[in-house]
Amino acid sequence: MIERLDDPAAAGEWCARERAAGRSLGFVPTMGALHPGHLALVRSAIAANERACASVFVNPLQFDDPEDLRRYPRELEADTRALDELGAHMVFSGTLEQFFPGRLDAAGTLPPGERVDPGPAAVGLEGDFRPGHFEGVATIVDRLFDVVLPDRAYFGRKDFQQCLVVRDLARRRGGPEIVVCPTARESSGLARSSRNELLAPRERERAAGIFAALRGAQLAWRAGLRAASELERGLRADLQRAGIEVEYAELRDPERWDLGRPEGELERAVALVAARVGGVRLIDNCVLHEPEDPPS
Ligand code: AMP
Repeated sequence: MIERLDDPAAAGEWCARERAAGRSLGFVPTMGALHPGHLALVRSAIAANERACASVFVNPLQFDDPEDLRRYPRELEADTRALDELGAHMVFSGTLEQFFPGRLDAAGTLPPGERVDPGPAAVGLEGDFRPGHFEGVATIVDRLFDVVLPDRAYFGRKDFQQCLVVRDLARRRGGPEIVVCPTARESSGLARSSRNELLAPRERERAAGIFAALRGAQLAWRAGLRAASELERGLRADLQRAGIEVEYAELRDPERWDLGRPEGELERAVALVAARVGGVRLIDNCVLHEPEDPPS
């Protein structure tokens, strides 16, 4: 039976006991409304560690849009059941005040001086369109790592830039090991997301155009196209044809994020898209120079 703890302090004690008993800890941070993508991360954590735990916390620090925060699905009971069925050992949640006791300001938020610098990977793309987002991510992930002190932490490649930010953070802290898991997709190719629940059936169909466009870029890459500008043009054209409102559709060299938007011929590339469908913000990406993620 899974242990459910509604207080990070209690979760910290549980983790400390497990570590003291010499057991390795795998950790999956989430915002809940768990879907098969999250559960695949948990399965990986269970497979590689003696104990696996997850957090479910809709972190207000990483939302730049109050309406997005308000609409975000919250299903802690169902999430706990799903984690229990998989064989996870502990799940915890908490309030912002419980995560940062005595540190919130009069408005009930964490003052800017208390937040963690997300580092250079936060520059561009999500960093431009969601100001403060990665600072909020780095702040809560840093705090969650302090609570759990895991051996390994699991993140999804769907949030590509977030993986880079978290990898940097873990490097600066001296751990944990960051394990990046493939993007889980619906049969249409649409990347699984808690936000997909907010899409009407026809919007969901339209949203599958994001994957189709990314796949198109990958096929072009495989056919030998390496020019950044042409790959990007094709990606945008496919998204436009699918009637998708694009926030960004760009290429990056995943090993040279600092270069920003690359020009000329590429050796490696990831294509990244953020789009709105029916008012719902969706992101996805595809590493063009690697084999496709296996279907899930
Ligand atoms: P979230 O609850 O959206 O914050 O996501 C929690 C973790 O699950 C993050 O590491 C996400 O990257 C990961 N995740 C979300 N959706 C997917 C997906 N479709 N495939 C793989 N991982 C995912």
